[in-house]
Amino acid sequence: CGIVGYVGTKQAAPILLDGLSKLEYRGYDSAGVAIMTDEGIVVKKKKGRLEKLSNMIDGGDAIKGIMGIGHTRWATHGEPSDMNSHPHLSQSGRFAVVHNGIIENYLKLREYLTKKGFEFISETDTEVIAHLFEYYYNGDIIDTMIKVIGKVDGSYALGVLCADDPDSFIAVRKESPLIVGLGEGENFIASDIPAILKHTKNVYFLENNEIVVLTKDDVKIYNTDREEISKETFVVDWDI
Ligand code: GLU
Repeated sequence: CGIVGYVGTKQAAPILLDGLSKLEYRGYDSAGVAIMTDEGIVVKKKKGRLEKLSNMIDGGDAIKGIMGIGHTRWATHGEPSDMNSHPHLSQSGRFAVVHNGIIENYLKLREYLTKKGFEFISETDTEVIAHLFEYYYNGDIIDTMIKVIGKVDGSYALGVLCADDPDSFIAVRKESPLIVGLGEGENFIASDIPAILKHTKNVYFLENNEIVVLTKDDVKIYNTDREEISKETFVVDWDI
């Protein structure tokens, strides 16, 4: 159960795979990445070791794009399988979501969304989040994130790509760990410091329900009233 996200000028997929490998100590049963490519969001995911995913995409070289999110899954709802692996796409493919944690009210949300015409293809609790993004999307990703987290109970660290935003992605956490890594012309999210330590030692620790929007040159953090908040940079004083 780990998350890594990257936006910058380098190829994202190899950076995500490397970052996820630094989180292997946390345990997992499957892995996946979503990359923003010229043709939209591309998702590759696989049950089993990270190596299997890496082989499937040539160590990351098979998918070109300078922004993406990666995930290692520790299944809580739905068996370990390719289909249940993250990232999960919303119905139209506009949103890709990685999630660590548990959505406690997912059955209710799943019933509600099914009535609204959404089709579920996995057994995970996470898939409701992908569809909720699509359901509430009004062109404003921060506003949409606030609405989505207002509906879900439980614990989450989330990384979300939106096909309409090729230069930025959004993340949030509650009761599951997530940090922000501040680089030079590149920025990161990760479940834990080792995933990004090769790239930067400057990090933000996110509090519950702090929403972060990352571009390669900028990181902005908002509360659920959509007010921008400033945070102190923490400088990690150890090496890998
Ligand atoms: N509850 C989610 C699932 O089972 C996420 C598990 C995790 O934290 O890796 O797919």
